[in-house]
Order: sequence, then C-alpha cells, then structure tokens
Amino acid sequence: MSEWRAVIGLEIHVQAKSETKVFCSCKNSYGDEPNTNTCAICLGHPGVLPVVNREAIHQIVKAGLMTDSQIARYSKFDRKSYFYPDQPKNFQITQFDLPFCEHGRIPIGGKGLSGEMIEERFVGMERIHLEEDVGKSTHFDDEKYSTVDYNRAGVPLLETVSMPEMHSADEAYAYVQSLQQIMRYGGISDCDQEKGQFRCDVNISIHKPGTPFNTKVEIKNLNSTRHIWLSINYEIERQTEIYENGGSIRQETRRWNDALGETVHMRFKETADDYRYFPEPDLPPVVLSEEQIKAFKAEKPMTPLEYRKKFEKDFGVTEYDAHVLTLEKSTADFFLKAGEKVKKPKAIANIMMNQLNALLSESGKTLDQTKLEPEHLVDLVKLVEANKIQKNAYGKLLPTLLEEGGNAEELAKAKNLIVELDESALEAWVDEAISNNPKAVAEYKEGKQNAIQFLMGQVMRASKGKAPAPMVIPMLKKKLSE
Ligand SMILES: [Zn+2]
Repeated sequence: MSEWRAVIGLEIHVQAKSETKVFCSCKNSYGDEPNTNTCAICLGHPGVLPVVNREAIHQIVKAGLMTDSQIARYSKFDRKSYFYPDQPKNFQITQFDLPFCEHGRIPIGGKGLSGEMIEERFVGMERIHLEEDVGKSTHFDDEKYSTVDYNRAGVPLLETVSMPEMHSADEAYAYVQSLQQIMRYGGISDCDQEKGQFRCDVNISIHKPGTPFNTKVEIKNLNSTRHIWLSINYEIERQTEIYENGGSIRQETRRWNDALGETVHMRFKETADDYRYFPEPDLPPVVLSEEQIKAFKAEKPMTPLEYRKKFEKDFGVTEYDAHVLTLEKSTADFFLKAGEKVKKPKAIANIMMNQLNALLSESGKTLDQTKLEPEHLVDLVKLVEANKIQKNAYGKLLPTLLEEGGNAEELAKAKNLIVELDESALEAWVDEAISNNPKAVAEYKEGKQNAIQFLMGQVMRASKGKAPAPMVIPMLKKKLSE
C-alpha cells in the first residue's frame, strides 16, 4: 500500500508599504488612534470616486518581477461582494480575471522547522493581484459587542496565490520564509505578522500518488509561520485517519486553535459564485507600456536567490551557509560588502555565522543595530591572515567592535593582542620551552609527534598568547633537529 501524500497550496495576503492607501489619499500607517486615517472614499460614502495609487502599482510590479512573474500589460479591477461590518462599502475592490502578475515562482530550500533540510526547487505561483484591505474588528465581552477601526480599510494588499505544489509542512514553511524574504528585500512589505501585514490561508488535501486529488480543506487566517507549520501537520494526520477509517472529507473552512493544538471547523465552504464578481465601474483599466515595464525591470532589487547564487559561486560558501547569510537582508548586504574585500570570504562567513551570531543573539540585536561595519570585519580577518593576531582574539575584539566600531588593528594594540613578530623573542620562548621540558623533548626525539603540541602549548603560555602560532612549530622542529 502506498503512502498518503499531502497537496498544499498557500494564499498569502501581504500589506504593501506605501505613503497612502490604495484608492484614496489617507495615510497608510499602523498603530494610529482608531478611525483617524479615514475619508469619504475609504468609508464608502455614496458618490465618491476612487483613484488608484501609483506607488501601490509600483510595489505589485516589483513583487512580480522579483518572483519571475509575467507582468500584465493590461490589468483591471473588480468588485467582490463582501457583507461584513469591517468593509463599509459592502464590496471589496480586488482583481478577478486580469491580475497584475501571473505564472511566477518562489524558490524553496534551506532548513525546515523540523530541522530537516529541504530540497532546493521552485514552487509555482499562479498570480499576485492588488486589492484593498478591510478594517479591523475587535470583539468584546464574548462577542456581545464589537468595534471597528477603519484605519486599515483601503491599505494596499497583495494577494499571492501559490500552485498546489507543496507536499509537507516544511516545504510550506520554506515557501512562506522565501516569500517574506523577497518582500523584505524588495522594500515591498516588512511582513510583520504581529501587525497583520502577512496573513495566510492554507489549502490542503491528501491523496496517494498516481490517484486523483481528494477534496481540499481550507485553514483560514493564519498569522504565524509556526501555526502554519503546526496546522498542516495536524491536518495531514487528521485527514489520513479519516481516509484510513473509510470516511470522507467535505469541503470546509477550518481555523487553527493554538490552545487545543488542533484545527477546528468554521463553516462549509462558499463557492466562488457567492462573491458575484463584476468589473469595477469607477476605475479605468491599468495599461503599462513596454517602456514602463522596462524601467521597472531596470530598478528591480537583487532577490535573496541572486544573493545566494553569488555567495556560492563567487565567495565559495556552501548552500547551507548561503541560506543562513541571506535570512536577513542587512546580513546579506554586510557579507556582500565584506566578502568582496578579502582573499577568503569564507573566513568572513565563518565569523558571521559563529562568533558574531552568538554575540548578536546574546544581545538581542540585529547587525544593523550595532556599530560594526563590513570594513571592521575585513580589517580583523586581514590581521589574522597576516599573522598579526591569533584567531582566538576575535572573541576579545568583536564585542568592542559591535559596541563602538573602530579600527581593528588599533583596538588589538590597545588590548595588547598584537602578536610578537620579533624573531628573537620567539626564539627565546622556544628555547625556554625546550630547556624546561626535557621529558617532552626526549619523547619527541623517540618519535612521539604529540610531544610537539605540548611544547607549542608551553611556548604560547610563556608568551601569554603573543607568539605567532603558525611560526611556532616550524621553529620548534628546527631547534629540536639541531
Ligand atoms: Zn481614505
């Protein structure tokens, strides 16, 4: 009997950054006094006319280009029936048949939340369309009464729809991370889940490979990457159990209950017809010229994947390292700048992923919140390459560089960490180690190679760590063979 396989698609709403809302000139700003960023247009007063925001179009085209989507030369808006109090117009302006972007793809890979590595590949993206966000309802006293804040109504929203091409919670997790990275790298959205800037619906069914797809279930309104991962794993288990026991699945909408650790039933699913889409009569279609699209392409920011490819190809780091170094754009930019200035960028990568990472997670800061500049790390690595400091001096210099920045060599001098290059001093330490340790010397001469490590330790101790490590063993060997 073959195994069940999950088929997963994700619909993700991303709030786009912009000065003003998508169809009026109210501020697009989070956390303001409720209902202060509103006007006749976003409150749906009769007789008003929406005007589409150019900045929002720029953002969606950028998102399309960064996901290898086809950008529509001709696009239009539609109305979708919507009868909830968080949308005062009773319809939502969205796009139905002619979205701005189609046939894109999102690269996945790296490490999943389970800790397993994910196979590097692309997941198809059906479309990205532009629509308006709705207001925010807050319910009180067991839903006896509710309030609505319309500051969010009309904020530009990019709805991204993936192809049903993911097969595990880890792959969905990787897709979500990858999409968030692209949006952040492009300055399109911060994807701050706590501020509701990134909301996800999961479509999931299971089947046995080679047989038709089964009925899918939708899990609505997931606003945490962890919840997406947990709810998919839960749903795979739940659906498997139903089929294994001879049951069937009815198309329904569920939601994640984090306290229970389960998905729970919300409602049986409406069909697309219930939305009664029709063309928005108050907005003209958007026509983009070949020149405009060309201009957008010319200023497309580098994607996370393009950074990773460069790091692997030009800087010689592994696929895994490249993933870690591109998690945040500030880290990727830092490595890009520093890596170009040294012979072995891998040395920079190692410091960033080890000592630096540890110090940052200790302080809870991100790299761009510190005083450390790429040049500081370059200087530091060059000091080691020139045998001017010991490798372990990183630990003594990095905390100060993070706090204050500054010249690594001067700092190393001030901290008395510059390695003694005076050959006569080195010779004296080596002679001292040899004459103080006749037993180790005898052992070495009998062929015990380990003995030289012991002698080297004695030299380092006598020099208080100042002896240049790469020069100690050759000199010991020379002296011992005399
Ligand atoms: Zn407004």
